[in-house]
Amino acid sequence: MIYRTDNENEKSAVLLIYTGGTIGMKMDSADQTLKPFDFSQILEEVPELGKFAHRIDSCTLDKLIDSADVEPSLWQKLVELISERYDSYDGFVILHGTDTMAFSASALSFMIEGLTKPVIFTGSQLPIGVARTDGKENIVSSVEIAAAKDKDGHAIVPEVCICFGNTLMRGNRAKKVDSETFRAFRSGNFPALAEAGISIRYNTDSIIRPADWDRRPVFHTRLDTRVSILKLHPGITPQVVRNIICGPETRAVIMETYGAGNAPSKQWFLDLIKEGISMGKILLNVTQCLAGSVNMDLYATGKKLEEAGVQSGYDCTTEGALAKLFYLMGMHGDNGFVIEELGKNLRGEITK
Ligand code: ASP
Repeated sequence: MIYRTDNENEKSAVLLIYTGGTIGMKMDSADQTLKPFDFSQILEEVPELGKFAHRIDSCTLDKLIDSADVEPSLWQKLVELISERYDSYDGFVILHGTDTMAFSASALSFMIEGLTKPVIFTGSQLPIGVARTDGKENIVSSVEIAAAKDKDGHAIVPEVCICFGNTLMRGNRAKKVDSETFRAFRSGNFPALAEAGISIRYNTDSIIRPADWDRRPVFHTRLDTRVSILKLHPGITPQVVRNIICGPETRAVIMETYGAGNAPSKQWFLDLIKEGISMGKILLNVTQCLAGSVNMDLYATGKKLEEAGVQSGYDCTTEGALAKLFYLMGMHGDNGFVIEELGKNLRGEITK
């Protein structure tokens, strides 16, 4: 479904894609729960969008979802949609539930290679129809950023980002950290790409620019989702670790370890790690901390993981690591090649 708001003074064209989430939800009086509603009502709720000096088209996905229901098929749909409309717009804003927004933004950052235009995810903590909603500000800032160009006519932020609570973050660096306040996301290991105050201040030194502005991006839609996540905790049992690491359906395991990448030094644990690696599994180490990096050389407990063949996820978020694995494993059948690429900074997701 497409709604169009044209302005005679248009400079940039922005496509707003609505996928669902709180931002467009309203109370269902029948069972008193929040349910998605038709996107045309969002435009009614944010008339400011029509006053922008840009052309804004909007598009609603056929089935609106709470983002807890997001599947990789949604990412594939979004990538196909952006690919089809890429030449007609200067930027894209994706309205998405906050719960899995960091996963979706991470996924799109890998699935679109050589991006030359902004793809901005946003949403809200309060529905758009509620008086104190944060949704209007988030949408308005996102559209402004998606439309922003420098003096050469290039996008100021040609990246997949999350714009939330006056802050623009690289999508594969952001994490939902708060289920109540309007500052729901945090980028623990990378500075904000922009701050929206009286004006929008861009942190241009931190923004990635494409090698060639005239080259069309490569849109990847093949993903291999055979990944599981093992979150370590005191009291974890050999049975649980074995099920996750050695499960027949798993090609890679993200281990969320303690601090700088540390894990129990018990022999049964190391034996299971070695067993998983001898079965050909890819084991990737990311930290449970909100900020900081894995450094397996720092402590003996981390060193043992490294010696067993566990890969460092450096300062990648779990969301970023999952997306990177889905993407790399979808591209390559050979685990050796996946492991080699995991160690590289592909989309600004790790500091190296
Ligand atoms: N459950 C909602 C979702 O993620 C929460 C939100 O939008 O903030 O779709």
